[in-house]
Amino acid sequence: MKHLSTLPVKFLHIEQEFHHGGHGVLDLLFSSPCYGHCLPILRPWLCPSWFWLVQVREKCLRRGYLVWCILVLLSGWLLPRPTLAQEAPETTYSYTFGQSAEFTLRLPPAAEVEEMLLFLCIAGDAPEIHILTVEDGVARYRRDLRAQPFLPFQMVTTWWEYKDDNGAPVKTGETTFLNEDNRFQWQTRTEGDLTIQWVSGSTELLVAALDIARTALEEITTSLHSPSLGPVTIYVYPSLPDLQLALRLSGYEWLGGEALPAVGVILLAIPTTPESLIRLQQDIPHELTHLALYRQLGPQGYANLPCWLNEGLATHFEQRPEALYALALERARRENALLPLADLCPPFYTLGGEQVILAYAESQSVVGYLQQTYGWSGMRVLLDAYADGLDCSSGLKRAVGAELPTVERAWRVWLEQEGYPTEQPQRIWTMGHIALRDLAPWLLLALVIILPGVWFFIAARPTPHLPSSE
Ligand SMILES: [Zn+2]
Repeated sequence: MKHLSTLPVKFLHIEQEFHHGGHGVLDLLFSSPCYGHCLPILRPWLCPSWFWLVQVREKCLRRGYLVWCILVLLSGWLLPRPTLAQEAPETTYSYTFGQSAEFTLRLPPAAEVEEMLLFLCIAGDAPEIHILTVEDGVARYRRDLRAQPFLPFQMVTTWWEYKDDNGAPVKTGETTFLNEDNRFQWQTRTEGDLTIQWVSGSTELLVAALDIARTALEEITTSLHSPSLGPVTIYVYPSLPDLQLALRLSGYEWLGGEALPAVGVILLAIPTTPESLIRLQQDIPHELTHLALYRQLGPQGYANLPCWLNEGLATHFEQRPEALYALALERARRENALLPLADLCPPFYTLGGEQVILAYAESQSVVGYLQQTYGWSGMRVLLDAYADGLDCSSGLKRAVGAELPTVERAWRVWLEQEGYPTEQPQRIWTMGHIALRDLAPWLLLALVIILPGVWFFIAARPTPHLPSSE
């Protein structure tokens, strides 16, 4: 029989022995057609008595005490028997994204358990352990996700552990689910590793979104030499308030689209309007760049990237330029109000509304300058330098041989020349012009301080007396 090969030697021996025996009751029992099918089920409670039964059977056959055998067997039915293996407990879960979750274990009817443990593992972290009292055969754990949210779009794994009636430990199988926003009915379209989840919108837009994602991925991974991103899911919310609520429900205060690179998820808010396609062309490549950088540099390297480089690259790969950025950059350049590059190394959270737009615009422009000057190979060296843990200025020093202030001056010259490489004399003239413009306020201040002193000095100087003509 097929299942014999899986039995331990002890059981194999016993089974063969029964099949070579005589015609006793036990032989009838063990040679019945049901025996082969039931053995795996019966084995747990037969095992402890197996050897004893074998010995009884041998005695019966040798001595011919058939009646005695029958009596012994009948008494076996009447005496308390070992407990049958308990049915598996029933485990269930339900949740409403960002609001509540409930996990339940229902014991089989005969089981008597007073306490059990629920293990809750979120996003692969160390499991939380909840000790629960069993009431009427049911253990239940309710969680208020407004107070204790699960991380959004992360996997949640649960299992239960307890001791059965005999004190033997029992562990249920693991249940894993994705904590996705189940407040909406998502439409889904998948192509290879890319999946778009959409609440409302035409099929044409879903197809367009997949096309944009595929083209963007190709360009990003080719330029940065990023490894494959693996499965990526893009959730498109119908409005920004819907997305913001989803993030707030999860304990986050993000304001716009967001990439969750650790789980390959992108969250966007794109209402169905005539501008939807433009928004897709901007937002999908932008967030995919963040995912690619995370995959390429790892969590530590990604966290160490200066914000101007991370956001600058993401904005660089957008397939539709954002007009607001160009306007903000041009105005700041003209008014000599550019943000210092050093202020764009940390995240932009601390910047005000208009400054954030300028921060993105400058980041995009600096990345454009670096890419045009040093090529994608230079950009990859720069990314590696930051992935090694170098700070904002030292990373540039290693990759392009100049510290942050020097690179910033060179970028501003490039910006004055409207992004075109120029001849050396013209560059020197532009640098002098920028330096003069930067120093203008200080020169004015110096004049204000110095001029009264000069005037006083002149006024106080004794007037020379001309000799008398007498
Ligand atoms: Zn971004």
